[in-house]
Amino acid sequence: MKIGVLSLQGGVIEHINHITKLGHVGVEIKKLEDMEGINGIILPGGESTTIGKLLRETKMFIPLRNKILSGLPVWGTCAGMILLAKVIEGEIDGHLKVMDIKVKRNAYGSQVNSFKRDVIVSEISSGPLPLVFIRGPVITEVTSNVKIVCTVDDKIVAAKQNNMFVTAFHPELTNNLEVHKYFINMCR
Ligand code: GLN
Repeated sequence: MKIGVLSLQGGVIEHINHITKLGHVGVEIKKLEDMEGINGIILPGGESTTIGKLLRETKMFIPLRNKILSGLPVWGTCAGMILLAKVIEGEIDGHLKVMDIKVKRNAYGSQVNSFKRDVIVSEISSGPLPLVFIRGPVITEVTSNVKIVCTVDDKIVAAKQNNMFVTAFHPELTNNLEVHKYFINMCR
């Protein structure tokens, strides 16, 4: 399987390493042509405003949006989740606006409030998963066609809608491969 990782800004190499460990090929996506032949794409953590701006500047914004709307499996981690959301609380406009979720940025405060929690996410794995939050968003609203995959302290931190999957946390920063395995299964 060939899995793209949007490589404009943010945590790319950690995702590529996890994909490689699972025996698949991780491809850095820096320009439109790089998207050719991929089975799915990861939008990594970073700064959503910057990634959104670079997506527009590199002219990948509309083609990527169209591919997602046509069914390309996509996983947004953290900033990636913000890029996919139809509504961002307190902001006039969103970015790709493909997923029926409303998100609140930096819902857990600043970098110093980063934390890790072990949680059982039955949709993904039977054992507990280490969830790492770094200035993460939370989902504050979903429509009925969105499946809530994980909540932590009553806050929605992972969700799925057809070919789109989002996590507010960073599985690529742990040694656990289960969430990557889950997404790769979505790409089959
Ligand atoms: N706070 C960032 C944003 O709003 C997301 C942080 C992250 O991706 N780790 O874009």
